[in-house]
Amino acid sequence: MARVEAQSESWGLLEKHPVVFSDRKTAITALKLLSIAVLRGGPLPGVFRLRQLHFHWGSSDDHGSEHVVNGVRYAGELHMLHWNPKYSNYLDARRRTDGVAVLAIFLQVGETPKPEMKRILEEINAIKTKGKEAPFPNFDPSILFPKSHDYWTYHGSFTTPPCEECVTWIILREPIIVSSDQMAKLRSLSKNAENEPDHPLVDNWRPTQPRYFRMVSASFL
Ligand SMILES: [Zn+2]
Repeated sequence: MARVEAQSESWGLLEKHPVVFSDRKTAITALKLLSIAVLRGGPLPGVFRLRQLHFHWGSSDDHGSEHVVNGVRYAGELHMLHWNPKYSNYLDARRRTDGVAVLAIFLQVGETPKPEMKRILEEINAIKTKGKEAPFPNFDPSILFPKSHDYWTYHGSFTTPPCEECVTWIILREPIIVSSDQMAKLRSLSKNAENEPDHPLVDNWRPTQPRYFRMVSASFL
């Protein structure tokens, strides 16, 4: 299978002001409409545009990822959500079986954290509570990729309700390394708005689901 690549392309800068923001549902720290970043290759039929990225994590370092590989749970999982520009917009694409591609990267706690994670985590203090946002210009999401682009892929659903079956999942085999402090920083986010009682935002992952008839294939076997 073809190598999967993230790139920045000129789409005409539909979104001039990317932000990081906090929402209370499941996902969190996201970038809205990074319209110049795209994903191509791998199982994808063409170029997909990045819509946002967000993280899932647990209440401690030993769980938090949404995918489990041979029984291994990682501390967290980064999702980059892309849509197929052959449809008129993201909401339309979400209703199509080939409308959305999510690239997933595992976060593994280790000694030498990936420096590129720093920029996102630095902004977290500005978005501690629900509804806050902060500017986040000139961010190239491809810097978060691990060295190896080996992946597993399957066709499945969103992990948040209503879990439409429209997602081509691409899960990179090699995790990126984060520090325990960085994971703690993610856990310092709150579900509540600024003046409400504090509810830490933790365990925003969905339990694994039965595979049913889904075929999982690998790029590296
Ligand atoms: Zn997600």
